Amino acid sequence: MRLTMIGAGYVGLVSGACFADFGHVVTCVDNNEDRIRSLGAGKMPIYEPGLDRIVASNVAEDRLRFTTDLAASVASADAVFIAVGTPSRRGDGHADLTYVHAAARLIAAALDGFTVIVTKSTVPVGTGDQIEAIIREERSDADFAVVSNPEFLREGAAIDDFKRPNRIVVGTTDPRGREVMQEVYRPLYLNQAPLLFTDRRTAELVKYAANAFLATKITFINEMADLCEKVGADVQDVARGIGLDNRIGPKFLHAGPGFGGSCFPKDTLALIRTAEEAGADLRIVSAVSDINESRKSRMADRVVDALGGSLEGRTIAVLGLTFKPNTDDMREAPSLSLIPPLQAAGASVRAYDPQGMEFARPLLPGVTLAKDAYDCATGADALVIVTEWESFRALDFARIKSVMKQPLLVDFRNIYPPSELHAHGFTYRSVGRPRLD
Ligand code: NAD
Repeated sequence: MRLTMIGAGYVGLVSGACFADFGHVVTCVDNNEDRIRSLGAGKMPIYEPGLDRIVASNVAEDRLRFTTDLAASVASADAVFIAVGTPSRRGDGHADLTYVHAAARLIAAALDGFTVIVTKSTVPVGTGDQIEAIIREERSDADFAVVSNPEFLREGAAIDDFKRPNRIVVGTTDPRGREVMQEVYRPLYLNQAPLLFTDRRTAELVKYAANAFLATKITFINEMADLCEKVGADVQDVARGIGLDNRIGPKFLHAGPGFGGSCFPKDTLALIRTAEEAGADLRIVSAVSDINESRKSRMADRVVDALGGSLEGRTIAVLGLTFKPNTDDMREAPSLSLIPPLQAAGASVRAYDPQGMEFARPLLPGVTLAKDAYDCATGADALVIVTEWESFRALDFARIKSVMKQPLLVDFRNIYPPSELHAHGFTYRSVGRPRLD
């Protein structure tokens, strides 16, 4: 099949490259010329493990192309995927559909023959209807079907998630649309990935419901962690103790600084707005969103407490800036809520991240970026782990201790056993676990 992917970001580029790997002929379109130029030169504009290899091999076999010319690639496509951003609209938290609507208009102008237009971007219920209306308005002669196909991949494991998904959700009641989508995903359901067909509005809602549920799970365990700290219990054992119950499951039960990233914060907010407009009250999701925001803003207090109440003249070393490991994505990263209050309270901040420093630099003015974890810790009064990159999981604490002003570790990801740090002579603070000092 000939597929066009509009938007060559975390979702569009990975999906496009994986579809090409399955044998489809894919054109990735982006209106960011630098992005297309860099892809044309074989340089990935984002960090995603394994992406460079799969892009290079499919480009070499002429199944994957990059262009800014939307019209030519749409005209020859069997299916056109919309994978542009849907950020939070400033001020009200609604999903900003500016890019989706713009893409729909451009697609309309270029349609030639029956084409399936697939929304991969996360869009509120009813957006498929809007896209259909826009296309009809621009091109009353066009022959097309608008299908919802939300994407569930996780950054950092995106290729594996795309190729071995738990499920593929397709929202359409159009028989021709269904047939094309079946053909698009045929290589995947040969792998026995369940393909769930439903109507378009339901498919749009499935994506938001999934993200809101996962955000709720994280927020639940974060609140349990707060309780553990008050009553002297260990949240990791609580998580294991409940997660071994098949009805609950062990995933998304890691207490931490609060969820961030390009999806959960904006998608919970957008779902709340959709529900408000529809006259349904989503009290659980509203509470999750509020609790998470206040949690992120309170993380700096934990560092202040660990340092005895004042940060004046102190140096704080931060390990991990991206919202999670194995990505360079800084959107809504907890580090962005933590670091500015530390600076405002008088601390100098040094930081290190294996992949995120290029995107972090303009977002964190005044932060000194270090060349590795040990350089980062040098001269620091406290070392703070914010993102659990693999390379932070086996630090040489004798070395860290020798370069720090004092041995204090604040671990927001609970990646070390308290006893190990205690044995190294560190004061160790983590989330929801008993202190040994
Ligand atoms: P992104 O910002 O990384 O990429 C979007 C790309 O679209 C950008 O490169 C931008 O230049 C391009 N673009 C915008 N308008 C365009 C136009 N008119 N023509 C061509 N290109 C255009 O965003 P993302 O993280 O890939 O997310 C895309 C969508 O997928 C969002 O709705 C998001 O919620 C959803 N989603 C994201 C993830 C994730 O982990 N990032 C997972 C599932 C779903």
